[in-house]
Amino acid sequence: MKEQICEHARDNIVRDKQWKLHAAQCVDCHELLAVSDWMGAFASVTPGPQSLPSPGYLIFKSRLKQKQAAAQQASLPYYLMVIVSALVFAIGSVWMLVAGDTPIASIMANALVMLIPGIAVLSIGIVIAGSVYAAAAYAVSRYKNQ
Ligand SMILES: [Zn+2]
Repeated sequence: MKEQICEHARDNIVRDKQWKLHAAQCVDCHELLAVSDWMGAFASVTPGPQSLPSPGYLIFKSRLKQKQAAAQQASLPYYLMVIVSALVFAIGSVWMLVAGDTPIASIMANALVMLIPGIAVLSIGIVIAGSVYAAAAYAVSRYKNQ
């Protein structure tokens, strides 16, 4: 059963002085006035939403993070496969070098001997590449935390 509500309480006349006199005697309007006063006091205490981002931006950022997480999860088997194949390659190379006198071992040994003069340049290149990678990872992590 629907409850009867004073017709003045349904109108938007909260600031009218005559309605406030009526509200002193009407139960519905008295309750509406009390709620209105409470909401006004609460609104003055609550800080304004000046620094909040827009809802569209929040939805966009949320969807972007979901897609990044899905991409990260999807690429996990790829990275595991890269690690496994690198280990197989390293173990196989060492085994071929150590195992004995095969043509592949002699080719690899000659290639390593050819690399010796360029080790300094190779080391500098590795240090520069690592620095660039670390800087990029730091920039991406700072961008993600914003
Ligand atoms: Zn009323």
